[in-house]
Amino acid sequence: RQDTPPTALTPDERIIVESISNTSISEWSYYYTHGYHIAGTNRTMAQWTADRWSENGWNSSLVAYDVFLNYPVSKSLSLTYANGSQFQPSLKEAILAEDDTTSYPNRVPTFHGYSATGNASAEFVYIGRGQQVDFDRLVQLGVPLEGKIALARYGGPFRGLKVKNAQEHGMVGVVIFTDTADDGDVTEANGYAPYPEGPARNPSAVQRGSVQFLSTYPGDPTTPGYPSKEDSTRTNPDSVLPRIPSIPISYVDAIPLLAALDGHGTDGAQVNRTNWVGALNVTYSTGPAPGTTISLSNLMNETYTPIWNTIGIINGTNADETIVIGNHRDAWIVGGAADPNSGSAIVVEMAKAFGKLLAQGWKPARNIVLGSWDGEEYGLLGSTEWVEEYIPWLNGTAVSYLNIDVGASGAFPFIDATPELHAIATETMKKVLWMDTNRNMYDVWYEYAGGNFGVLGSGSDYTAFVHNGIGSIDMSANPGEGDPIYHYHSNFDSYHWMSTYGDPGFLAHKYMAQYLSLLAYNLATPARIQFDVPNWATQMDSYYDDLIAIISSTSKTLNTTALRRALDEFALRAQEVQALDDQAVATNDPALTTLVNHKYRDFQRAFVSQGGLPNREFYKNLIFAPGLDTGYAPTTFPGITEAFNDGNLTLAAEFVQKTANAILAAANIIKT
Ligand code: GLU
Ligand code: CA
Ligand code: ZN
Ligand code: ZN
Repeated sequence: RQDTPPTALTPDERIIVESISNTSISEWSYYYTHGYHIAGTNRTMAQWTADRWSENGWNSSLVAYDVFLNYPVSKSLSLTYANGSQFQPSLKEAILAEDDTTSYPNRVPTFHGYSATGNASAEFVYIGRGQQVDFDRLVQLGVPLEGKIALARYGGPFRGLKVKNAQEHGMVGVVIFTDTADDGDVTEANGYAPYPEGPARNPSAVQRGSVQFLSTYPGDPTTPGYPSKEDSTRTNPDSVLPRIPSIPISYVDAIPLLAALDGHGTDGAQVNRTNWVGALNVTYSTGPAPGTTISLSNLMNETYTPIWNTIGIINGTNADETIVIGNHRDAWIVGGAADPNSGSAIVVEMAKAFGKLLAQGWKPARNIVLGSWDGEEYGLLGSTEWVEEYIPWLNGTAVSYLNIDVGASGAFPFIDATPELHAIATETMKKVLWMDTNRNMYDVWYEYAGGNFGVLGSGSDYTAFVHNGIGSIDMSANPGEGDPIYHYHSNFDSYHWMSTYGDPGFLAHKYMAQYLSLLAYNLATPARIQFDVPNWATQMDSYYDDLIAIISSTSKTLNTTALRRALDEFALRAQEVQALDDQAVATNDPALTTLVNHKYRDFQRAFVSQGGLPNREFYKNLIFAPGLDTGYAPTTFPGITEAFNDGNLTLAAEFVQKTANAILAAANIIKT
């Protein structure tokens, strides 16, 4: 295929593009990557963010929530062989002069957010990625789990689900390690020097992260479904937080633990599960090794503490239409150059570009609300609590939510979005000349992502929006094959890593800032909301085909006629509203434009189910949700698909009806 020609820019778009500078983005990045910003400790950065937005014309303030958090106090881990000799993993990341953060003495240790305080001393078992299928396989192989400690590999399902599955199988502690198999070819074993000398993973790198059981609900664990204010009633968080201790370790610390299992239990190759065998020089045997034990202890300090969102506002002419744009500000570490500060720096630069437009008298049709969320890392706290507080207003006015988390850890764009946004997301990519070349972002994305938008699952701040029926987009630029390794949730996600390896010159930051700003501008400014609603019919048809394929691959049956009819009805109404939209444009009729805009704004609210999905009331979107068993990756028509996969055909049939009714209700909203 040939590259597409770039789209010409309007004068306002030119102002935006010319305002965005990689030099100032690198300054914002430098600021954000030199300070503490774990949840509840970053009020200064929240205020700094408000100040930058305010000086560019945004009406900015801080909004606090009182949430339950825990912070690490101490931990230990040791391996005792059957003969009594011991190995003591270091549990620490190397401190590098290059990373320029040595002046922060209380650097955040390696730990799991929301992990349980506790001790465990027991034989241990390798559980692969720790997904339900891995446990099914262990049970089938007769590997003893009760009373043992789990050694789990990072990757695949959300880490909290690994701990949840282990706990539910009677295991008493969990150690999660990074495997270089997830680094592709760029490994020390393949001859690449590790960071800081080269692009491979620093061997001491540890992935921190939350182990909240996100499958139930995100946000503050003691205020499910309502905002966490100082005087809020609190529930017991036991069902969403682990009761067994867990800690994360590096691959160097993992090797002796895995090696101690070599030759015990079932050999990794015979387990024959995808991703069971990694790239370390061991057999990945299940164990346990008789008499070989792990002693694990973890001490956490539990507390209720304020967290701070920064909220910035530009009022539009239509008070009842709002575009929300958000990025989280908290990080596990002092740096966080990619996660989340690439996004944070990009958002400040966008705020500045809109300041230039404001100075020239620009006023968008829609309100623009900018959110710098706190507490994302513990479980989407800041964004979820804010949505829970402002849901009546969001229900009445929200048009779209635009999320940017890791804005740049490499130079290959990737986008997940609800279907109405695919067209404008595509058109906007044709306006960005990527990475100082003559190629459109669109062509680079097309090659890298295969011309496909992903479906939103979870793992970042769009979740509370999507599950209240607000269409969303999530964008990032990631490393490609053979690119330097991004040290996710590690101290090595530093300014030095970013400026040397991840995004030298901050060019991916610059072009992602252009992209986000142009997209936000075009969603907020024109009289007409630029949605493609017929694409919902197209996308839902493909989800339907997937469902039929799942059903036909089994010997079970499920009557999906009601769903099929609802989809056909929706497709018809989508064509009609598109025709009305065209007519509003052709006749330049403001009343008609408002009528269509409001249909566009509202129709996805119908996808929200009152009682939520089975056993997870928070997740209410009947069209897509994070998989119960994945935490990150999405499931489409989740109520139906998960009940069917569970063998609960009555529940599946009930959700066919609920989903069909929701789609009919959406069709009724767009009906002309
Ligand atoms: N993005 C964070 C992570 O993946 C938080 C995800 C979440 O809590 O949903 O660890
Ligand atoms: Ca809450
Ligand atoms: Zn993040
Ligand atoms: Zn993160």
